[in-house]
Amino acid sequence: MAKDLSKIAKQKKIKYFLISFVDLFGVLRSKLVPAHAIKEMQKSGAGFAGFAAWLDMTPADADMFAIPDPNSLIQLPWNKEVGWLASDLWMNGKPVDASPRVMLKKQIKELTKKDLIMKSGVECEYFLITPNGSSIADPRDTQSKPCYDQSALMRRYDLIKEICDSMIEMGWGPYQNDHEDANGQFEMNWDYSDCLVTADRHAFFKFMVKTISEKHGLRATFMPKPFENLTGNGCHAHISVWRRKKNKFLDNSDKLGLSKMAYNFLGGIIKNAESLSAFFNPTINSYRRINAPPTKSGASWSPSSISYTGNNRTHMIRIPDPGRFELRLMDGSVNPYLLQAGILAAGLDGLKNNINPGKPLDCNMYTDYKKYPNLPKLPDNLDQSLEKLKNNKDMKNSFGENTINSYLKLRNSEIEEFKQKETFDKTKKITKWERSNTLDC
Ligand SMILES: [Mg+2]
Repeated sequence: MAKDLSKIAKQKKIKYFLISFVDLFGVLRSKLVPAHAIKEMQKSGAGFAGFAAWLDMTPADADMFAIPDPNSLIQLPWNKEVGWLASDLWMNGKPVDASPRVMLKKQIKELTKKDLIMKSGVECEYFLITPNGSSIADPRDTQSKPCYDQSALMRRYDLIKEICDSMIEMGWGPYQNDHEDANGQFEMNWDYSDCLVTADRHAFFKFMVKTISEKHGLRATFMPKPFENLTGNGCHAHISVWRRKKNKFLDNSDKLGLSKMAYNFLGGIIKNAESLSAFFNPTINSYRRINAPPTKSGASWSPSSISYTGNNRTHMIRIPDPGRFELRLMDGSVNPYLLQAGILAAGLDGLKNNINPGKPLDCNMYTDYKKYPNLPKLPDNLDQSLEKLKNNKDMKNSFGENTINSYLKLRNSEIEEFKQKETFDKTKKITKWERSNTLDC
């Protein structure tokens, strides 16, 4: 029996609900619905014109309905009158295949057929910048190696505390907050969960960080590379696959603590990495972060080749502990649902085809890459990764050809718009277009 949102509204004194969805470009969109209308909306959904969002629809299409998932309900910690709900998109009585939460649920369903679930945690890095977006917010945050800088962290105590207190209140299990490797950059970590829960929380986290930062007179950005000389915003994910209470990625007899299933899953990600970049590094600006030269702090902390290793942060995949791996490819502009869906689809490909990822490499990839000339490189720009996705039959099988084509069409039209005004050149300054189109990603 689904939770009755109308009853919950009365119990929790919720006056309004935000019925929200994330479109293909990761934009969080909502309708604000008074509590007295939620009963009907829970059944039939809130109506939207699909063409008005980044979904491959036309103005002539029928109404699209966002049907809220009552399990995703979050009472806004900073405004208890409002309840936030993630929802699935429906049109003409069917789920919208090319919508991110539906895409993720399709992959989850495939894994469920094997009686397995994927658990994941995400590490969302962000910068605190001035409201006009021109510079970092703290003029005293100038160390050349600013990572874990206590003073810079504590100058933002009121803001960080408010976000962390909110996570405690919501029951996310936050466990650490730090100043990251770029001036003005922060990261906050909370517990891993089932991948759908993590995707919903990831979408909400970005909304929360931006909102609370605004309240404190600042602006938060998850843009992959907002400043040329500083480390970019990554969004690393830690992955494991479980059968009920048993971590099926764990094998203590293996040197790195991973099972055959984990290596096959990882092999699927290695095999599909170039195409996955189209989801994981989805903006033009993303390609200033990967394949990037060292930054002011000495390292970009982002991958350039497609490789995996043990506990070593210079590779695309790191195995920090037995029973899980960390994928370091994604950046702050990644769509929270396509992050999980992409990993899952590639992992399933690896399981289905028993893909062997080869041997882990034990080297400093930032300095030793010349010794591995045959390793495949990550794409250099968005055009290249879209081209890889276009030619990837496995991903088309996983998501449906029409869904992939919709994604490609929208991203390609964005590139066209960019090219009319600018040229992408990583050795030159970040363009005005990148700033105005990516700062709020
Ligand atoms: Mg980090």
